[in-house]
Amino acid sequence: PAVPPQEPFDANAALFERAQRRIPGGVNSPVRAYRSVGGAPRFLSRASGALVFDAEGREYVDLVASWGPALLGHAHPAVIDAVRTAATRGLSFGAPTEGEVELAELVHDRVRRDSTTPIERLRLVSTGTEATMTAIRLVRGATGRPLIVKFAGHYHGHSDGLLAEAGSGVATQGLPASAGVPEPVAAQTLVLPYNDEAALQAAFDEHGDRIAGVITEAAAANMGVVVPHDGFDRALVRIAHEHGALVISDEVLTGFRVHPGGWWGHDPAGPLDVDLITYGKVIGGGMPLAALGGRADVMDLLAPLGPVYQAGTLSGNPVAVAAGIATLRLADADVYARVDAAAERVVTALDAALTDAGVPHAIPRAGSLFSLVLGTDRVPSDYDEVRDQEAWRFPPFFHAMLEQGVSLPPSVFEAWFLTAAHDDAALSRIEAALPSAARAAASA
Ligand code: PMP
Repeated sequence: PAVPPQEPFDANAALFERAQRRIPGGVNSPVRAYRSVGGAPRFLSRASGALVFDAEGREYVDLVASWGPALLGHAHPAVIDAVRTAATRGLSFGAPTEGEVELAELVHDRVRRDSTTPIERLRLVSTGTEATMTAIRLVRGATGRPLIVKFAGHYHGHSDGLLAEAGSGVATQGLPASAGVPEPVAAQTLVLPYNDEAALQAAFDEHGDRIAGVITEAAAANMGVVVPHDGFDRALVRIAHEHGALVISDEVLTGFRVHPGGWWGHDPAGPLDVDLITYGKVIGGGMPLAALGGRADVMDLLAPLGPVYQAGTLSGNPVAVAAGIATLRLADADVYARVDAAAERVVTALDAALTDAGVPHAIPRAGSLFSLVLGTDRVPSDYDEVRDQEAWRFPPFFHAMLEQGVSLPPSVFEAWFLTAAHDDAALSRIEAALPSAARAAASA
């Protein structure tokens, strides 16, 4: 009798099967699950510089960078050293440490600009979700008002009030919101189209005395990249302040990634008079660390000084703080120049490959962050325009890249991340892989 053909053993697929038996969907964060591109996610065993290695021992040039934190590249020796040293001194104390003070001072100095100091106080937390959740509690506490304005397609983490029409995995899965958020909670969030000053003005005209604050991604990068139009943020700050509402600039993704001072420093329009800024990702250099900071009079409303409560057993964790300090110290002008140059090279090659393959496309950019829009050459300005693309061309593109050893974020609605470790060898491998991936997108 004929022996049935054996599927070749695939360590990633085997791990994914095992994972799905004990972990919902096999992953601990939905964006990792390859839901929109299909197939088993690569289970990673280690990472170094621009490379990640999967369960089969295959290496990939990585364009995910842990979704942002790995600005210097993975496992930078100086960061690993700092973590090792901190770990030997104890993993967590539940008491203040000098490192926390140093990190708050570092952030203050980096973000300071043209004699403007937006980060007079900084509170460390463990995730971007906590940072934005606390920031919205703070603007409510400061104003005594209930409503929050957010923009469609912006992602600010997974706290109840911020999931309506959110970007990132919520966008990838095509969800309008999350189940489990009570209607009265969802009703406290007004969702507006991005880059639409008239809609913002109308919302404030109608609800102005009940709006506590506006939260906006400094540059939207969780529905792909959509930058604020010239003057939009300035109008946003003006309208909000005219009505006594506060403005939260969410720099969890852009902070210390697009510029030494984050979007705040990058924006050619100059510093904005925002009230609070949230950070995550790069600030922790790959460890669970995030922060919110801003005006002293608002930040000092936080407990123990003020009535707005926030706390955390692991907040300001000494090992995470050590990784953050080491990362920010190393992230000098040369690092940003290298990341920018690497992004430029990939964008140029991506554009050429898609043009040669005859795929209409746009590559919206926010500094070194960029993303792909397929099937149209319109650079999107809001979530509706982002969704109006030929997203089905992305899975074959993604898998063609993966087959050739390049790991992209597994959704067309995510930004691509370069690092300072993307050297000529890594970039050449990306360039070599792009033409056939673009042809796969063309024939999808
Ligand atoms: N805000 C923004 C702009 C983000 O990009 C993210 C995460 N992608 C968050 C908040 C939430 O951060 P975390 O995943 O650490 O909770």
